[in-house]
Amino acid sequence: MTVDAAPPEQADLLAFGCIVTMNAEKEIVPDGGIAVRDKCILAVGSRKEIERRYQARSCLDRRYAILIPGLIDCHTHMSQALVRTLIAHELPMIHRIYSPVTQNMTPDDARVAASLCAAQLLLSGVTTVCEGAIGGTDEHLAATMEAISKAGIRSNIVIGRPDQAFHHAALYSQARERSWLKVSEGQAERELNRTEAFLSCNPPASAALITGGICASSLTAFSETYFRLAGDLAQRTGSKLHVHAARDREEVEFCLAVFGRRPIERLLDIGVVGTHLVIAHAMLATDHELTLLGKGQSAVAHSAIECLNILNAVPNVRLMRELGITVGLGCDNAANDMFSVMRGAWILHTATRGIQGYDPEILDAGAVLEMATRDAGVLLGLDRHIGSIEPGKRADFVLLDGSGPHLRPSLNLLPELVRHACRGDVRDVVVDGRVVVDDRRLCTLDLDEVQEKAKIAIDRLGPVAAKGRYR
Ligand SMILES: [Zn+2]
Repeated sequence: MTVDAAPPEQADLLAFGCIVTMNAEKEIVPDGGIAVRDKCILAVGSRKEIERRYQARSCLDRRYAILIPGLIDCHTHMSQALVRTLIAHELPMIHRIYSPVTQNMTPDDARVAASLCAAQLLLSGVTTVCEGAIGGTDEHLAATMEAISKAGIRSNIVIGRPDQAFHHAALYSQARERSWLKVSEGQAERELNRTEAFLSCNPPASAALITGGICASSLTAFSETYFRLAGDLAQRTGSKLHVHAARDREEVEFCLAVFGRRPIERLLDIGVVGTHLVIAHAMLATDHELTLLGKGQSAVAHSAIECLNILNAVPNVRLMRELGITVGLGCDNAANDMFSVMRGAWILHTATRGIQGYDPEILDAGAVLEMATRDAGVLLGLDRHIGSIEPGKRADFVLLDGSGPHLRPSLNLLPELVRHACRGDVRDVVVDGRVVVDDRRLCTLDLDEVQEKAKIAIDRLGPVAAKGRYR
């Protein structure tokens, strides 16, 4: 007696190609298929198996396709997208360029900047972005969220505004004056009530396209009370607390002068080192400070290319990983292209530490890809949903065109992706089961309109930036 094969199950979307799963074993399925249903990955297997078991009205099936998990940008500031190119050779740029420009932005400007940034990211294969410290008014926040929703990119939006004024006396100036801080009493409570309401509408760690997070942007501008309350809120809500720390010499000087402690030591003193803590940068963290972060199972968002803009130090990413710190990569507006950031990380760490120790594997391709996918998902607290191509996860993945001569013949795929692939290879992008880039065309935004509005906004904001520039 013969048994008829079961009829194929209905799926919403099928995609075929060489699948780089980035599961725990970094398994690669050379001629594979993905079935998507209800925004989630239903099955991953060989092409034959997926074709036999599933049928769908939509199908991405392109010759030489390489399917990778959607890339994750762990740290950026979308509001800075309009003027990011003006910071070249303009150190220090935050107080002279970024701050005056963002303070002069209208909610519509914030909308345009977020749209432009989302377009740059999606077209380079980024499916999730963490907006690392959104400031401005509620109207700016609403406009940014509208732009992100329209673009269709997954986002983790981290909010919180300062509650402390400060003055930094530079190292030699301390002979005449002291650094100081002045807390706005009650501001931390008011601000974190607003954040708690935001988190209840945008639950952290959920599968929703927009999730929330808490910002305590720096030890200079946020009070001890704020940090303590923010840490409690993070633990109560399962949110992450994002802090720029050990980022620049001025901040380290300030912490030593005012608290008598280095930045990460100070964070430990006030009780916020833990699994909920995400440090942006940590370039100037000592080995001892990294040990503290490792013991706390905290995370670091590492912006490899931004290291070159800030010019303070290259963090020891291999040591971070060895100590148990989760490291994810971030564009921080320096590239808005994770292929550049991945290649930048490989070159930066090999040049600064690999060459010295004759160790070409100081940051191998598998590690770099982990930091842009599965580890980045852990960093954001979203690893149940994103970071790899596995059944049950949200359907966030990218189809790369592997037909270009720079990717042929394909013999060793992970190093090829880090060393040779580029944003131009991104052909289709799927976020939450929805095709948002189709054959290199962004389906969700009118790019001409976004670019025209960006031009109008920068005609007004450009002179503001020019005032702060040296040249
Ligand atoms: Zn930042």
